[in-house]
Amino acid sequence: MERVTVLGSTGSIGVSTLDVLSRHRDTFELYAITANSSVEAILQQTLAHQPRYVVLRDESSAEQLATQLRRAGSECEVLAGEAGLCKVAAEADTVMAAIVGAAGLLPTLSAVEAGAKVLLANKESLVMAGQLFMDAVERSGSTLLPIDSEHNAIFQCMPGVHRQGLDAQGVRRILLTGSGGPFRQRSVESLASVTPDEACAHPNWSMGRKISVDSATMMNKGLELIEACWLFHCPPERIDVVVHPQSVIHSMVEYVDGSVLAQMGQPDMRTPIAHALAWPKRMESGVASLDLIVQARLDFEAPDEQRFPCLRLAREAAELGGSASASLNAANEIAVEAFLAEQLPFTAIPTLLERVMADVENVEPLTLGDVQAADLQARERARSLVREFGF
Ligand code: NDP
Repeated sequence: MERVTVLGSTGSIGVSTLDVLSRHRDTFELYAITANSSVEAILQQTLAHQPRYVVLRDESSAEQLATQLRRAGSECEVLAGEAGLCKVAAEADTVMAAIVGAAGLLPTLSAVEAGAKVLLANKESLVMAGQLFMDAVERSGSTLLPIDSEHNAIFQCMPGVHRQGLDAQGVRRILLTGSGGPFRQRSVESLASVTPDEACAHPNWSMGRKISVDSATMMNKGLELIEACWLFHCPPERIDVVVHPQSVIHSMVEYVDGSVLAQMGQPDMRTPIAHALAWPKRMESGVASLDLIVQARLDFEAPDEQRFPCLRLAREAAELGGSASASLNAANEIAVEAFLAEQLPFTAIPTLLERVMADVENVEPLTLGDVQAADLQARERARSLVREFGF
């Protein structure tokens, strides 16, 4: 039995992962599930799936959960804090890294350092600390499998040894597809007044609120571009973003002979999750067949960088290197949080990020401490700009 820890089990990816795992109880044993503070949701998951450990980062929520589990007669052990997250990440054979944001970095790195098979949904880990993260993968021999549907698609279309780079694999370029989000066709003038609920209403995917806002600004595609550079040892200029509103093709790889391979499927995260859990084999995910006759058409267009300046900012950060992408990610987390709390207009997100990137220093991060310092500096600058630009 393969012991699995699901970091971020109460989130959108976490719930889909538990669904896939529950279809294969003969192969996978649920070792641990974790969340931040969602006591009720993780209580129900614990009773339904009976993991050995359950971890809440928030200490008082963990105490409440322990009391409720004792009352329900559960023997599951409750842990708390970042140390608890890192412990259950390091002790499993396979770890789904699905905590949202920078909070996912240390638990994910713990799994990598312990040599686990790591299913990476938390793109922010690679965006923040790409070089240190990939060095740790190399050192520990951990197997890193991408969960983001685009990177999982690229992985499936490019089965070679990625650390040798694109040329060694005969690849000309990567085509990173994106739906264009909910505001692809909305007038630019009306974007200033969009609400958090409108931004979170993604046309094709059902996701957590932070990544939904990132999809609406197309920062998600920008973060994915940076993630792809690290995962596939690829310079940013060899990645083209293509808007594909139907989200049926999840990304493509073009080879030097002109072949273009695409991975297609329903927009349902259980496909990449099942792919990575079973890799190098295949297993049932619960996802319905793709009916191309019903689908009928696939459209493609170039991204509009005027409407979506975040995409340009992410490409610039990837080209700059150093701590630029950690700073961009941190400032984006603050801006999105402020937008979701209705303290910042939607259109101020890219303006704020541009200002932060102009104001903070770009350094070469040699240690995690350097990454965390860059993250902190950008967060502080972003917070003061929220006060300047906010409602
Ligand atoms: P959600 O917001 O739905 O869930 C986030 C999870 O992380 C929850 O379990 C939450 O716990 C936990 N969490 C939040 N903050 C902390 C913290 N400080 N410490 C510990 N745990 C925390 O996110 P998604 O599932 O949408 O996304 C997760 C990751 O996967 C993100 O990095 C995202 O970019 C990536 N991803 C998501 C996709 C999707 O389809 N949703 C697609 C591709 C990538 P609690 O419930 O207690 O808040």
